[in-house]
Amino acid sequence: MKKLEKLDYRLPKWDMTDLQERHCPICGTLENKQLYLRPDNLVVKNCGVCSVYYISPSPSPEQINQFYAQYDSNHRKTKDLRINKSKLDLIFGTDHFGDLRIRKLASMVDFKNSSFLDVGFGIPYFLYHLQKLGGNVFGVEYDNQAIDYARQSGLDNVFFGKISDLPKELKFDVISMNDLIEHPLNPLDLLNEAFERLNPGGRILIWTPNGDFSKKDPNSTTFRVDLEHMQYFTTKSIAYLASKLNASIEHLECYGFPALGDLVAPQTAMTTAMSKLKTRLKDFYPVHMANEFKRLYLKRAYEFNNRKGSYHLFAILQKK
Ligand SMILES: [Zn+2]
Repeated sequence: MKKLEKLDYRLPKWDMTDLQERHCPICGTLENKQLYLRPDNLVVKNCGVCSVYYISPSPSPEQINQFYAQYDSNHRKTKDLRINKSKLDLIFGTDHFGDLRIRKLASMVDFKNSSFLDVGFGIPYFLYHLQKLGGNVFGVEYDNQAIDYARQSGLDNVFFGKISDLPKELKFDVISMNDLIEHPLNPLDLLNEAFERLNPGGRILIWTPNGDFSKKDPNSTTFRVDLEHMQYFTTKSIAYLASKLNASIEHLECYGFPALGDLVAPQTAMTTAMSKLKTRLKDFYPVHMANEFKRLYLKRAYEFNNRKGSYHLFAILQKK
């Protein structure tokens, strides 16, 4: 088993006397190989049946709940979330098809006649653009600040809680889970719950770290950042999952490279001041237009390059 060195400065301090053995969270077997010891001293196993990478033993559910109770203030370090309504275009951009997930959905779904639910939407980039494209959008979150931010962005149907907290009669054509299913100890429960809330022929969109990226990455970045992740899917485990959920795979793609940003070093007074200045400048119209021009110009090259990467998995599963 390979010991991985610290990379992400946000190192959770788990109580190592309060761990629980886990079966594979996708196929339920115990056929696995121990591969890595993460910087937080948790073991990464690789399932020999469905190929998902997962943490076992894991912190107990109580520990995990405690961790998330302070997640937004301590870990995600939610920035100052006041919003200036006149600047929504500047904040979210005016290119509603700028995100490749939305472009892919556009080839499958008529936005104007579809309902969407984004689970754990965070900064509501996804919902904002889907609403602009005519979608009937809903969101659930555990972060009150994110909910407040979404409401200020013109999104009315955003609620505190989980999928099952929504009225039972609400069903959706697309349920998106961006950077979500790697978190819970029982991702299958979450996915089953989502599938029950789909209209016939509805779709689940998944964006999650790709465990198999570690095979190409000598730095094992995937298992050294965001140490609250409890599993890492692979293309094979998504296929396994689809058959288990009786869903068809409409899209499955590996995409991109790690974007470490400020994860590798804590912010100092200097870097905070610099990033505040950059944010202010970004809202200044000429700077924004210059950035926008540069962004559009670089986008094609950027996406072309990212298609060679495989840090993320992007899947769309359709209910049969
Ligand atoms: Zn498995």
